[in-house]
Amino acid sequence: MQFIATPHNHKAELIGCPSCDGLTRVPVLQPGDTAYCSECGLPLSQCLPNSLDKVIAYAITAFVLLIAANLLPFLSLRAAGAENVITLPSTSISLLHDGMPILALLVCSFILLLPMTQLVLVLMLYIPLKLAKPAPWLISSGRLVFTLQSWCMVDVFLIALVVSLVKLMTMASIGLGIAFWAYVAFAICFTLMQSAMDRLECWRAIETLTSTESDTVQQSGIKHDHTDSAGDRAS
Ligand SMILES: [Zn+2]
Repeated sequence: MQFIATPHNHKAELIGCPSCDGLTRVPVLQPGDTAYCSECGLPLSQCLPNSLDKVIAYAITAFVLLIAANLLPFLSLRAAGAENVITLPSTSISLLHDGMPILALLVCSFILLLPMTQLVLVLMLYIPLKLAKPAPWLISSGRLVFTLQSWCMVDVFLIALVVSLVKLMTMASIGLGIAFWAYVAFAICFTLMQSAMDRLECWRAIETLTSTESDTVQQSGIKHDHTDSAGDRAS
């Protein structure tokens, strides 16, 4: 379904296209609807049915799988009668011992720290939205989540890993550990979570929740003022 600019729709948001910089007014979407750029046709926003439930379910599953991938054996290499078992954290530690601290930090960040931070932030953001409970960190965590989104490249790491494994197979016998399959499952869940998150829909949900909270505070303030003035009149 394509949405074109509707100047009389007051709830429509003016969205800039990341591809052609064209501006399109996107109205409030119904579940299953997608809004496209009016210039180049790029999808700008998508309202998936039960998107909050899906994001939370994928985030929790990915979190558990990422912890398992970091605790269990990842690979075993057998060559010349010797066997070496590798875990994901040991790759960064080996780089550190080999005198490459910056590379060790980058590997640790992109494999573990950034995805873990992103998962925690997503849960901090989407659980209050699902429960319709305003939280003071909603706006700041929303900004961080969509900033980190483009830096969490677990799918790129997975492709690079498969290419490396194919090359290593010519030099040593390789055994894939449980952590390898846990990381593959984590990458799938993480990618599905990212694809279920829509920036515009998320900000609209945050805006609705925070405006509802401020309305409630204002109404309670008005009631409080009425109570005070009634008390003053009684005295
Ligand atoms: Zn466009």
